[in-house]
Amino acid sequence: MIKFLDLQKLNLQYQKEIEAKLLETFRSGWYLLGNEVKHFERNLGSYIGSQNAIGVANGLDALRLIFKAYLELGQLKVGDEVIVPANTYIASLLAITDNRLKPVFAEPNIDNYNLDISKIEALITPKTKAIMVVHLYGQVCWSKELEALAKKHELKIVEDNAQAIGAEWNGIKTGNLGDAAGFSFYPGKNLGALGDAGAVTCKDSLLAQTIRSLANYGSEEKYINKYQGLNSRLDEIQAGVLDVKLKYIDADNDKRRKIAEQYCAEITNPKITLPELPFNSAEHVWHLFVIRTNKREKLQKYLLENGIQTLIHYPIPPHKQRAYKYYNHLSFPITEKIHTGVLSLPISPVMQDEEVQKVIEAINNY
Ligand SMILES: *Cc1c(COP(=O)(O)O)cnc(C)c1O
Repeated sequence: MIKFLDLQKLNLQYQKEIEAKLLETFRSGWYLLGNEVKHFERNLGSYIGSQNAIGVANGLDALRLIFKAYLELGQLKVGDEVIVPANTYIASLLAITDNRLKPVFAEPNIDNYNLDISKIEALITPKTKAIMVVHLYGQVCWSKELEALAKKHELKIVEDNAQAIGAEWNGIKTGNLGDAAGFSFYPGKNLGALGDAGAVTCKDSLLAQTIRSLANYGSEEKYINKYQGLNSRLDEIQAGVLDVKLKYIDADNDKRRKIAEQYCAEITNPKITLPELPFNSAEHVWHLFVIRTNKREKLQKYLLENGIQTLIHYPIPPHKQRAYKYYNHLSFPITEKIHTGVLSLPISPVMQDEEVQKVIEAINNY
């Protein structure tokens, strides 16, 4: 069976270093807010090119905390509108609605599944205060037009960078394009921990300080609580593991790129719509390789019978989820078309050439 993602194999690449780090942390007797987190934050910040990096408990919290900090700083108000792609993972939405901000859904491009920047301006009202861009599937969502639009309407840009660590636009890394960015280190992400973990990067140091405090009970000094915060800290064990794996992220992303390029060159079945290769290969880190087809369930079953595991990202868009009952009546035809047709093929730094070949052959014979 070709697994969708062989996490065991992936992490075994770094077994020696990870085990040494786990043992070191275990023996240190210090498990929270210590040197491992400090080192990882410093290394992540310098990798991204950001002044500020804050480790938090997971990717959803990273995004929630950004908006919560903007509210605390009075830079956003309850009820303000945030433009967000309708086809994102539900976490992007939860970060907005959990802070009692109002999501305004925007349609993506059918070609690259990212926010259609040309459609944003029509959605802006006097209440619009931010845009959340999602670098979906690992592809950068950014442009000069987006920057100009944000400037013109004084909008903050928050990046959901859960899927695109290492991707670049014009030599600038995702996570350093907008005002603030949330990262997820969920085990299956391109940089994955051995459990939940996340981080925020941002340009403004006051925002960073507020987020750090909010993630630690709203406290900067022990037992002095400035805000009604959360407990959302990155722990020392996960930080140590992430610090080991961060050194290999570029090499890992390059392996993903090679597989994606091979899929794009060699999958020739006309029933399949392949993702667009970006003009500049730095702009995609291929967290997911997503194809589209008319009879997705049939293709998925056929591939499984041929020993190939696939997944769907995602079967139901957020506005059609029960959790957002009051948005269920909304209709976004491009988003809904994407959700009914997409299928994610196996892609990972530990996939063997023969496995890639087998996937290509199976799809071409379908
Ligand atoms: C994974 C993911 C998140 C949430 O990250 P967690 O660490 O699972 O909380 C947010 N947004 C997107 C686009 C994601 O893929």
